[in-house]
Amino acid sequence: MAKEELECSFCGRKKPETSLLIAGLDAHICDRCIEQAHGIVIEESKESDSSDLSAELMLRKPQQIKTFLDEYIIGQETTKKVMSVAVYNHYKRLLQPPTNDDIEIQKSNIIMVGETGTGKTLMAKTIAKMLNVPLAIVDATVLTEAGYVGEDVESILTRLLQAADYSLEKAEKGIVFIDEIDKIARKSDNPSITRDVSGEGVQQALLKLLEGTVVNVPPKGGRKHPDQKFIEVNTENILFIAGGAFDGINRVISKRLNMQAVGYSASISDDVVDNDNLLQYIIPKDLKDFGLIPEIIGRLPVLTYMDPLDAATLRAILTEPKNAIIKQYKKLFSMDEIEFSITDGALDFIVGKAIEYKLGARGLRSLCEEILTDAMFELPGSDVKKINVTKAYAEQKISKNTIKKLKAVS
Ligand code: ADP
Repeated sequence: MAKEELECSFCGRKKPETSLLIAGLDAHICDRCIEQAHGIVIEESKESDSSDLSAELMLRKPQQIKTFLDEYIIGQETTKKVMSVAVYNHYKRLLQPPTNDDIEIQKSNIIMVGETGTGKTLMAKTIAKMLNVPLAIVDATVLTEAGYVGEDVESILTRLLQAADYSLEKAEKGIVFIDEIDKIARKSDNPSITRDVSGEGVQQALLKLLEGTVVNVPPKGGRKHPDQKFIEVNTENILFIAGGAFDGINRVISKRLNMQAVGYSASISDDVVDNDNLLQYIIPKDLKDFGLIPEIIGRLPVLTYMDPLDAATLRAILTEPKNAIIKQYKKLFSMDEIEFSITDGALDFIVGKAIEYKLGARGLRSLCEEILTDAMFELPGSDVKKINVTKAYAEQKISKNTIKKLKAVS
């Protein structure tokens, strides 16, 4: 065939009408068709991505979800169970074909109450990892009512879009973890006080998001980029998980339990109340008494609590989870062909310090870092190919000053 007679086998354009014509075995393709085909490939792969998601979601039953959580999270049995069911139901609702009956499955947004450092964020992260869905972690304390200094509630969805690499489809099936939800509780139980900027107003703004609505979201975040085009995000299928320490809620719970014990209502007074872990008795009314508005509580229908971390749990956190801190150090050292080991005595010492100074699980990492920094600095490239951290070694690296420093950051 003469050169000028060559044409694209897809659209029929002659070679001179194209910028580029690529030859195959028996056919040719022009630049425009390549571009179009590329677009189709991208679209198709997006679709198959989402069907992957459905398949994966349907495969895991609540017990399997819990087994997955067990690999990463120590203890917290109740919450792991409650979460597994809530997440399973949420995605079942999302994947259900439209039906004719009037039964509409409600969203199973979750609220976790528990001291800081007990694994609330880890729980949300692990669920998102398992489902392979985007996760946005937002701090409720930065949210304010529109018009005030701070971030609008919509910024939550900007974060989610960013976490989803701006794939709207993925974002709309994602998870939002709202940390420190307790900080937007109404400061006083008197609803007539003038609206507090970061309190009830924000709760009101959150309501719609939690329930499911279409929100105009500025993809780059609100106020600094006023000219950007908004993206419409539907929050109908987004799973919201809220967490908070609710400092002082123990008093609310204890008061209620005592009142029940005096009254005639069915109560747990016959059973022994476990005063060391009052959170296990938490009910939605306690959240209301703490200052969350009833509508918010209603839209976070799954209420669960985190157990405080005792020595045994802290010890297990150091060594057992799939990416346990100690396993991470082992790996780091082994990359320099250094064999790392640590004695039980040293582990107990670390746990002891974390408890003594109320550093919680977060403190474990900082303590390890303090103990191992010298070794991590000196050993790579040296002749030493082995390190065994004993209690004496750990003690020597942790001075009073370092504890002070750790306390300040935790
Ligand atoms: P929270 O959100 O409740 O303040 P995080 O989830 O941020 O707490 O936990 C703080 C750190 O402690 C994280 O590094 C996490 O890995 C670890 N951690 C806390 N609780 C657990 C647990 N139950 N199992 C494993 N790791 C935990």
